Amino acid sequence: MQKISDSNTQSNFGLNIKLYPKEVRYILLRKCNHLCTYCHYERASEENNEIPYNILEREIKNNKKNIDIVHLTGGEPLLYSSFNKLIDYLNKNKFTSHVTTNGSLIHTKLKQLKKITDVHVSLPSLNERNYKKITRTNNLEQVLENLCYKKINFEINFLPIKSIHNVLELPKYIGFCKLNGIKSINILEMESNSNDLVSYNAVRDLLKKNFGKLHEETIIRHNHPVDRIKIDGINIHLCDIAMYPNKICSNCNMINTCNEGIYHPRMFYANNKVVYQICGIRKKFSSYLEMQKEYSGNFFYRRRI
Ligand code: SF4
Repeated sequence: MQKISDSNTQSNFGLNIKLYPKEVRYILLRKCNHLCTYCHYERASEENNEIPYNILEREIKNNKKNIDIVHLTGGEPLLYSSFNKLIDYLNKNKFTSHVTTNGSLIHTKLKQLKKITDVHVSLPSLNERNYKKITRTNNLEQVLENLCYKKINFEINFLPIKSIHNVLELPKYIGFCKLNGIKSINILEMESNSNDLVSYNAVRDLLKKNFGKLHEETIIRHNHPVDRIKIDGINIHLCDIAMYPNKICSNCNMINTCNEGIYHPRMFYANNKVVYQICGIRKKFSSYLEMQKEYSGNFFYRRRI
């Protein structure tokens, strides 16, 4: 992995990236078997439409030369009715593929998930009571069991939430990852007016308290910079979900970001139409190229720590 220069690592807000992002998040459907308290707008508003498979394949195929990473999300992407077919297509056409899932249905899709480059599992707590409070399900045991499958390349997505003090569980997460051969924990921060979210500094303090001096660096991952702390061989990526003071859509005030904390365009299907958008407040486009034309240049940025 390539390190970026010190001048970049030292900068504060607003790193402009001149490269148009090559990752698109496909919101396959809005349906989900969880009901997380932190669920972002991808699950809410708009019509609850699945992207018809033929349309999805057409979109991916048409933009093949522009897209390096196909990121499947939802709702719960494992509930997508053509999931198996889609993974076979991506695999056959050698796409780098990412999936973000709540992890509860992994055991039903093992064969396909083995073909995916990175499977990101959202895991808000290792404690049953907290897990239930946040996801409003009893699926923790199943998720943990699923995370033991060694042949899938898992990463854990972790959102520090004040009311359940889950940040205190981080050392346990690191132990869990070591035990199960999981290499990365992506810490998603929500910097906001909400009282229930924890800052990076609190995460850092906790890690320092438990592991002593931290080795921190900024690396290039999937062509983008990401801040990383390495502990016991586990990569802890500090990511952003930026929040705005006012509501930006019917449900929330968050702007969706990828693992590296950079806004990635998303594609979804609403009112029988394909929609491309870089986030909930920006203009909607009917094609990737139209969107690319409008935003080519420096619209991508992330908050630096
Ligand atoms: S698993 Fe994801 S899509 Fe489902 S409710 Fe939770 S945050 Fe929302």
